Amino acid sequence: MRTHRDQIVILKSNNYSEADKILTVFGREFGKFSILAKGMRRLSSKNRGNMQTLSIADISFYKAQGLALLLESKSVHIPDFTTIEVKNSTRVLRLISRLIPDEQAYVKIYEALVKAIKSDLTTDLTNRFRLLFLIEEGLINSMHSCGICGAPDGLNHLQLSIFVLLCENCYSSKKWSTNDVIAVNGELYSNTKFTIALDKYIDNLLLEMT
Ligand SMILES: [Zn+2]
Repeated sequence: MRTHRDQIVILKSNNYSEADKILTVFGREFGKFSILAKGMRRLSSKNRGNMQTLSIADISFYKAQGLALLLESKSVHIPDFTTIEVKNSTRVLRLISRLIPDEQAYVKIYEALVKAIKSDLTTDLTNRFRLLFLIEEGLINSMHSCGICGAPDGLNHLQLSIFVLLCENCYSSKKWSTNDVIAVNGELYSNTKFTIALDKYIDNLLLEMT
């Protein structure tokens, strides 16, 4: 068996036996995988405090066939759950849990996740993460051109039900409902309409996949 190192985010922690836990983690290099943490449920376990959901840690582990085995962990960041809103943590966790296959690295997504967690998953950072995730996974159009005519410039509005940008021409050529189109500006990512539209888009996506 070989020893590996990675930085990971804890996605889920399940009791396995009286003393052990199985953690589902998302690693920068190793992607999503499960790991057995022996003895972690004991009060004396050194790994215990570092390993709640959304904690970030540097770990070493054995991995051959089957389940990886946790050796050591060193805390990088412990999330502040007095500040983090449960709905934002649910928003990011379900995307990764449902839409990322096991054991594949997604460095860009990993780094966006770490950045969001370190900023207490504000709605702004949660939505930035979600949009980047959907674009990286090819589940949403990359936002470089008008979704209607393909023009590359003047993309100042976002159509919310199909998530495409609109150029000035396409925006002004139709009477859009204000519930359907919002301005793309500095506050886009914390805009409540944007958040709700993204929730709906992702709900539908996950529904189609089941
Ligand atoms: Zn256009």
